[in-house]
Amino acid sequence: MSAKAFIGLGGNLGDVRATFKRALKKLEGFAQVEKVSSLYRSKHYGFGDQPDFLNAAALITTELEPLPLLAELQEIENELGKRVIRENGPRAIDLDLLLYGDLVIKGDALEVPHPGIPERDFVLLPLAELDADFRHPGLNRSMRQLKSECPGGYVMRKEESAIPPSGG
Ligand code: ADP
Ligand code: MG
Repeated sequence: MSAKAFIGLGGNLGDVRATFKRALKKLEGFAQVEKVSSLYRSKHYGFGDQPDFLNAAALITTELEPLPLLAELQEIENELGKRVIRENGPRAIDLDLLLYGDLVIKGDALEVPHPGIPERDFVLLPLAELDADFRHPGLNRSMRQLKSECPGGYVMRKEESAIPPSGG
């Protein structure tokens, strides 16, 4: 049984576009990347003075269950040099499992839907771009509704260049 999942990509160190491309290529190893959003330039939400973030989301289909999928995402983060010096600090890449079909999971290692979704415009803008009608299974609201209700304040602009689903 293959599931539809949304992956959030973020990063603010190094050549983030290139890192996203490589991450998407690696995703193809265990998923089909159906669609990738535009890139959004966002103010960081962490501590201190940090470079801007680039954020995007990808719609994938995969045979993997949520926990093995998260493990694969973490493996990619490690391969691509995510080094979290501290929570909410700068990072080359952050891959989050945002949504996994209509599953709701509240575990220590994994919470799905990702709890940050409703407050984060840098997540909701790309999600709404991919599938505005997709319903958040916990809140029972569409991405379009959540986006319109989000206080926002992080996204500065949409960047013109999108990444092709093939990772091109
Ligand atoms: P953040 O993404 O909040 O900046 P990290 O990427 O360092 O922080 O992840 C912290 C932890 O979040 C990981 O150990 C992971 O197990 C946990 N986690 C829980 N739910 C999720 C999710 N939906 N997607 C990604 N990581 C998650
Ligand atoms: Mg993360």
